[in-house]
Amino acid sequence: MQNWIIDFRSDTVTKPTPGMQEAMQQAAIGDDVFGEDPSINALESKTAELFGMQAAIYCPSGTMTNQIAIKCHTQPGDEIICDENSHIYQYEGGGIAFNSLCSVKLLAGNFGRISAAQIEGAVQPDDVHRPISRLVSLENTSNRGGGSCYDFAEIQRIRAVCNKHQLALHLDGARLWNALIAKNESAIQYGQVFDSISVCLSKSLGCPVGSLLVGNHSFIKKARRIRKVFGGSMRQAGFLAAAGIYALDHHLERLKTDHSHAKRLESTLQILHFVKIVLPVETNIVIFELQDGLSAPALVNTLKERGILAYAIAPNRVRLVTHLDISSDMIDKTVEELNRIKYAAGH
Ligand SMILES: *Cc1c(COP(=O)(O)O)cnc(C)c1O
Repeated sequence: MQNWIIDFRSDTVTKPTPGMQEAMQQAAIGDDVFGEDPSINALESKTAELFGMQAAIYCPSGTMTNQIAIKCHTQPGDEIICDENSHIYQYEGGGIAFNSLCSVKLLAGNFGRISAAQIEGAVQPDDVHRPISRLVSLENTSNRGGGSCYDFAEIQRIRAVCNKHQLALHLDGARLWNALIAKNESAIQYGQVFDSISVCLSKSLGCPVGSLLVGNHSFIKKARRIRKVFGGSMRQAGFLAAAGIYALDHHLERLKTDHSHAKRLESTLQILHFVKIVLPVETNIVIFELQDGLSAPALVNTLKERGILAYAIAPNRVRLVTHLDISSDMIDKTVEELNRIKYAAGH
């Protein structure tokens, strides 16, 4: 066995940097349920300002910020329109039904991106037989879409469809930071078109914990009530919020490095004999499909024996995610190891 581990399973595996740990240790804290944690208050205002929106609320996870948003926007029996690969549908434990008693209209998007035309066609007519279309939820970047980014002009067209049909528009922006950096966009432009935005600090930005939900005053007021019901109100969590403030100040620009690392993996994989296709790489996620008959879990095992951790997202698909704790040396090593793997026929 080699003595290194290069962990590409997810951008959630990062550990706080020394600078972040220092910021956490120095954090001013208080009881956030009383609204008295200065670090949480500062992180919430900073994030709201970043998006040019009125308010924000700090939560333990991105699942919680999404689920709170869905609960705030809907009534039982309403319908949510989203891509079939959405995290809110695929990976939140059926929370749309469990927490909000809503149905879902799934659309087959383009690498996780749905279009204004598809949404227009999915809005239910005003008919007692039908659920009431209430909310559109987009994901940028799209996780199962391979880190793909929306074209902002399409998001504006989607906003127009939502206005026409009085639908709320939510963004699952767990990795929005990656999209902003990749497309050279500003958070402000997103704040102008969405009713609510969820962002994670524990993915691209390297924090141990934390997500924020951003919206207008009345929406966030309602969200505070729902967070309490969901058991997500914390006390002296300013230690964690301080990591978030540090990350927003220091870890945004460096996402470019993660993206160029992902590009290097893409170009290596494209010419490997056991790889059938690599999904287009736009940010920090690399998803590839194996040649017919090859198994993703088997390749993941082979990589593991070589000290490289990856994730089989389907029987024939493997995902690699670059992040704060992946160095250029690790990418060199991975490229070297990938080139050494030989599949015998029938393997
Ligand atoms: C990771 C992720 C979330 C939230 O996940 P948590 O682990 O609950 O923080 C939400 N949406 C997308 C697209 C994600 O990738």
